[in-house]
Amino acid sequence: MNPLHDALVGRHAARDAVFLHLPDGRTISYRVFERMTARFANALGARGLHPGDRLALQVEKSAEALALVFACIRAGVVFLPLNPAYTGEEVAYFVSDSGARLLICDPARAEASAPIAARCGAGLDTLSADGRGTLAEAAAQAPAVHEPAVRQGSDLAALLYTSGTTGRSKGAMLSQDNLLSNARVLAEAWRFTADDVLLHALPIFHTHGLFVATNVTLVAGGAMILLPKFDRDAMLVHLPRATAMMGVPTFYTRLLDDARFDRALAGQMRLFVSGSAPLLAETHRAFEARTGHRILERYGMTETNMNTSNPYDGDRRAGTVGPPLPGVELRIVADGAPVATGETGMIEVRGPNVFQGYWNMPDKTAEELSPDGWFTTGDLGQRDGDGYVTIVGRAKDLIISGGFNIYPKEVEAILDDCAGVLESAVVGVPHPDFGEAPVAVLVPSAEGLPDLDAVRAVVGARLARFKHPAHYEIADALPRNTMGKVKKNVLRERFASRLR
Ligand code: ATP
Ligand code: MG
Repeated sequence: MNPLHDALVGRHAARDAVFLHLPDGRTISYRVFERMTARFANALGARGLHPGDRLALQVEKSAEALALVFACIRAGVVFLPLNPAYTGEEVAYFVSDSGARLLICDPARAEASAPIAARCGAGLDTLSADGRGTLAEAAAQAPAVHEPAVRQGSDLAALLYTSGTTGRSKGAMLSQDNLLSNARVLAEAWRFTADDVLLHALPIFHTHGLFVATNVTLVAGGAMILLPKFDRDAMLVHLPRATAMMGVPTFYTRLLDDARFDRALAGQMRLFVSGSAPLLAETHRAFEARTGHRILERYGMTETNMNTSNPYDGDRRAGTVGPPLPGVELRIVADGAPVATGETGMIEVRGPNVFQGYWNMPDKTAEELSPDGWFTTGDLGQRDGDGYVTIVGRAKDLIISGGFNIYPKEVEAILDDCAGVLESAVVGVPHPDFGEAPVAVLVPSAEGLPDLDAVRAVVGARLARFKHPAHYEIADALPRNTMGKVKKNVLRERFASRLR
C-alpha cells in the first residue's frame, strides 16, 4: 500500500487516455506515464535510495521531471523540488539542510553542481528539459515494472521549501495524507473530471503547479497541456483546447494585455483559477468584462496546500479568497482570542492539509504549529458574515507608525486607483519619530507618470493622516519572484534610509 501513488498514478496504470499533451504535439498516456514512474523508481533504487531518503531536484519542467516526482512518491523517496533559478550557493543550502542523498540537475549545470553535491555528501545525476541525462539513461535501461514502496498516509512525501518571500525558505514537511486529502477536496470543489484538459504553465517546483494543478488532474483522471513556462503566444495557441487553467495573477494581467485574448478564445473554458498572490479586484472585473468568466480565487500556502476557495457554483467575490474548503477549519485571532466578524486578525488553520512541521526547525515549528493542530499562517485577514475570507496582507508587512497599525493593502488600493498609476507597493521603513512610516512605490501606467500632487490629494481625501505615505518613489516595476509575489523585503531594504 502506498496511498498517494495508488490514488494518483497506480489507479490509472491500464488506461490509454492521454495524461500529458506536450507542446511539440506528442502525448503521453496514463499507461505510459505509470511505466515512466516505474523506470525512474527502479533507477533510484539502483542508486541506493531507500524510502525516507531525500532527493533534491533542480531541473527544468518536463514530462520526465514530473515522472521523476511521481517515481519518488512510488519509491517512498522524499523529494525536494528546487527553482532552476537558484544559484549554486542556494542549492548547497537546500541540499545540506535536507540531507539529500542525491541531487538531480540539468546537464548544463553538472560541472557546477558536482562540488556542491560532493561537499554535501550527495550523489549527482542529470536530467535535461528534453528528457536526457544520466538519470534518464538509467531509467531507460531499468525495468518498467516496480513494486511501490509500502507507505502510510502519515509518512512524508515531500519537503517543499517555501518561496522565501519573507526570509530564508523553510522546508515544509508534507505527508502523503496532506497532499492526497487536499487534492481530493479540490477536485471535488472545482468539479474536475476525466474530461478536463488543464492548461499548465506554472512551475513544478512550487505547490501551485506541482500539487494543486497536477494532483487535482490526476485525482480526476484528466489531461494537462504541459507548457515549459508562461509564454503568452503559446497560451493563446493552446487555450482553445483546454477546459481549465490555473495561474498566478500576473498570468491574467498578461493575457488581458493582449487584444487577441478574447471571449471566443476562452469560449470552451469552464474554469480559471488564481492564487499564490493577491488578484486585484480590478483584474477580476476586467477579466469578466473581456471573457464572461469570473476567475475563481483561492488561498493557500506551501505549509497547508489550499485553505479557502471561492465557490464553483455561487458567488465568486472579487478581492476575496472565499470560505474555507471542506475539512479545513479557519479562525481569525487577535490578542489570543477570535475576533468579531469583519475584524482583522491573524489567520489560523487546522485540518488534514496542514503540514507536519518545518524540517530541522523545531523551534519555529513549535512557534507556528500548536499541539492541537492550529497553524499560524502569518497572513492577516477578515471574515464576513457569509464566511468569505479577505486577505489583508502579511503580518510581517504590517506597518506600525507612531503606535498605529497601517495595512499596506488599504493604502495600495487607493494608490492603484489614481490616474497614472499602474500598480503600487507600500512598505514600512524606519522613521526617527514614528518608529516606522509608510513609503509608497508607484509604477506608472502606460499613459505616463502620475502627478504626485494629485496622488497626495486623493490620499489626503480618503485616508487618515497617519496612513499617508511619508515619501513617494517612482519605479519601472515592482520586484517580484517567480510566483508573482512582490518582494517587499527588497523594497524595505532599498528605501531603508529614505526617512532618516
Ligand atoms: P515564505 O514563507 O518563505 O516567506 P511565501 O509565504 O511567499 O514565502 P508560499 O508558501 O509560496 O511562500 O506562499 C504562501 C503565501 O502566499 C500565503 O501565506 C499568502 O501570503 C500568499 N497567498 C497565496 N494565495 C494568495 C491569495 N489568493 N491572495 C493573497 N495572498 C495569497
Ligand atoms: Mg510563507
